[in-house]
Amino acid sequence: MQAVVIGSGAGGAVAARELALRGIKTTVLEAGKAFRPLSRNIAKIRALRGFMFSEKLISLVFPPMKTYRTEQGLVLIRGISVGGCTTISCGNLLRAEKGMRELGLDLTPEYQHIEELLKPTPVPVKRWRPTTRAMYAAAQDLGLAPFAPSKAVSLARCVSCGLCELGCAARARWDASRFINDALKQGAQLITGARVTRILHHSMEATGVEYIHQRKKQQLPADIIVLAAGGIGTAALLHASGIENTPFFWGDIVLTLGGKKKNADQLHELPMVWCVQKDHYIISPYIDILSHFFHRPWRNVSLRDRVGVMVKLADTPNGRIQSPRDITKHITDLDYKRLDQGIAIASEIMQRAGVKGPFTRGILNAGHFGGTASLTKQDVPGMRPAWLPRRLWVADLSLLPSSQGLPTMLTTMALSLRVVRTALSHPA
Ligand SMILES: Cc1cc2nc3c(=O)[nH]c(=O)nc-3n(C[C@H](O)[C@H](O)[C@H](O)COP(=O)(O)OP(=O)(O)OC[C@H]3O[C@@H](n4cnc5c(N)ncnc54)[C@H](O)[C@@H]3O)c2cc1C
Repeated sequence: MQAVVIGSGAGGAVAARELALRGIKTTVLEAGKAFRPLSRNIAKIRALRGFMFSEKLISLVFPPMKTYRTEQGLVLIRGISVGGCTTISCGNLLRAEKGMRELGLDLTPEYQHIEELLKPTPVPVKRWRPTTRAMYAAAQDLGLAPFAPSKAVSLARCVSCGLCELGCAARARWDASRFINDALKQGAQLITGARVTRILHHSMEATGVEYIHQRKKQQLPADIIVLAAGGIGTAALLHASGIENTPFFWGDIVLTLGGKKKNADQLHELPMVWCVQKDHYIISPYIDILSHFFHRPWRNVSLRDRVGVMVKLADTPNGRIQSPRDITKHITDLDYKRLDQGIAIASEIMQRAGVKGPFTRGILNAGHFGGTASLTKQDVPGMRPAWLPRRLWVADLSLLPSSQGLPTMLTTMALSLRVVRTALSHPA
């Protein structure tokens, strides 16, 4: 039996690992290359601050990070490399479960399995910067019940450079390439720079994939095809293959409020060491690197003095992905209203902790893409949307219809594990 896994991010890596561990001949096709962190070369882009007028240019110095700006000015961030978006993540590992009860989906065994492998742990208070501690105390005083989320980070190795999203040069933060390595040890094959262009199928049965590698178009027949190209990549591939997908997506929109405090040095801690969880968003201390480098209103504050608090919103699913370069997405009035509510709380926390203005909002961005191959309640026992051709499985965040406003890596992995286990026990 030959399995092909498209994408090596959170979903693809778990799928490849599980298939290979079960002795199935597995090939992973990954559009990106092996991941290299930028963090060691931060001086390179520091020097460019002020000359780089668009966040799009980040991929010139840091090829794994790709951005796309929608008409409404929402910047969509993707990680295109071995490990996908996990390589540019903050390492938070939480169970994001919005909408799962309504679907009848309980991923407890899969969460437990992955948590057992990654052993997530919160960052101890002694490693937080003083301003972050003061903001935590302010959030407590406001009755917001802040908590420290668990992270997939080795604290012994972490050097608190704060640049997790530019890749972890200390190799302290877990990313999905480690699961890919486990798969390779079991005999799986990884082809990097292999961009899948089409799922081959006829009579509602998938038969393999077409991909471009070293400028040559190639085909790979397979008995099981696991599509895990991320919310955007998966939707684009289904569309290119003439397979209609769910006509909306969500992205967990992030907006960071920037303030100023002399020598706060907030960058020298891990991002998001505590969180406040409200119904539709979380609030968390965070320096938004993209805004620091590319957002004009943020230009006049140095990294040393910059203090940021983010609002991560469970946004309204809408819009459409035709290809990675043809995406529409609307930020609704309700989304703006909730973002404003979150920003007002962030501002109160910051001011109580002695952070000064001017308070400026950063770039509206999103990086958790889901919903494009949504499961319905009827689909859950078989873990595949009913409209997929046989033998084709989706194993990434695309499966989840509800936006989370929460870190989504763990949920993606748990979904993928359930999909592969189902595919092997009840082949479609
Ligand atoms: C900046 C940032 C920070 C984040 N921080 C956190 C965090 O701290 N905690 C957390 O839980 N979540 C975080 N997330 C979200 C999390 O990383 C994603 O939800 C998760 O990685 C999604 O997994 P996925 O498998 O759906 O997609 P991805 O991880 O994006 O993987 C998709 C893979 O498919 C590949 N691919 C795409 N198209 C093709 C194609 N045509 N052919 C072959 N390969 C293709 C891509 O190169 C990529 O490797 C963050 C996201 C971003 C952008």
